[in-house]
Amino acid sequence: MAEIDFGLAGKSVLVVGGTSGIGAGIAAAFAGQGAQVKATGATEREVEAAASGSMDVRLLDVRDGGAVEQLIAGFDRLDVVVNCAGIIRRNAEHDPDAFAEVVDINLNGSMRVCAAARSLLRQSKGCIVNTASMLSYFGGGLVPGYSASKGGVMQLTKSLAIAYAEDGIRVNAVAPGWIATPLTQALQDDEGRSRQILDRTPLRRWGTPADVAAPVLFLASDAARFITGAILPVDGGYLVA
Ligand code: NAD
Repeated sequence: MAEIDFGLAGKSVLVVGGTSGIGAGIAAAFAGQGAQVKATGATEREVEAAASGSMDVRLLDVRDGGAVEQLIAGFDRLDVVVNCAGIIRRNAEHDPDAFAEVVDINLNGSMRVCAAARSLLRQSKGCIVNTASMLSYFGGGLVPGYSASKGGVMQLTKSLAIAYAEDGIRVNAVAPGWIATPLTQALQDDEGRSRQILDRTPLRRWGTPADVAAPVLFLASDAARFITGAILPVDGGYLVA
């Protein structure tokens, strides 16, 4: 997306869950715009792998509220926060403990980051972009925790858009469709399931992290200055088919 100038050069950007998949694509896209990007990952291994480039990469588990606050305290200025940390535990989420873990990371973790970043974002009149999902709209029989968490991310986004507007902070979300990342590797490898997904996707392909990153740049840019509380599907048309 370097060919489109989103006016984000020099902005201070935090991408939580920015070491893999969609988040890594978003972090790279902001860096490509000349933004100062800090990305986080949940494991030392991921952090080391991602830090081999020019990116400032930190370890962060969003279940740890103290660690979230400490990370944000390390910023002098913060213009954009992207919440992209997430897990899915297919077939395990009917166990209430697994359910709770998924909700704690995907939903509560997003809230922890938003709450901690609010005062810095108030100073910059900045913005937040959360990551919703097709399962913000649909139920998921195999993944009740993931669906509940993503339904929650959608409602959290709308609610914080209202609450943070008085601080001049915009809060939006992207709702990615089926994107080829490590999180969906099992589905990509399952020929039958992958075929079903492609048959229902009007644009007839799996999305890429770069496909999601470009709309995030837009939502973070001044071109989206009157957009808040929006959930933007980035799904090749899956939702309307
Ligand atoms: P991924 O597995 O490639 O990346 C997940 C990221 O989350 C990694 O950076 C990881 O370090 C981080 N993370 C995991 N647990 C964490 C924790 N406890 N604390 C902090 N960070 C943690 O997955 P992805 O496909 O790139 O997914 C990124 C986001 O996009 C997730 O919120 C996911 O639900 C959402 N999403 C993905 C798809 C898809 O098709 N891939 C579709 C819709 C939504």
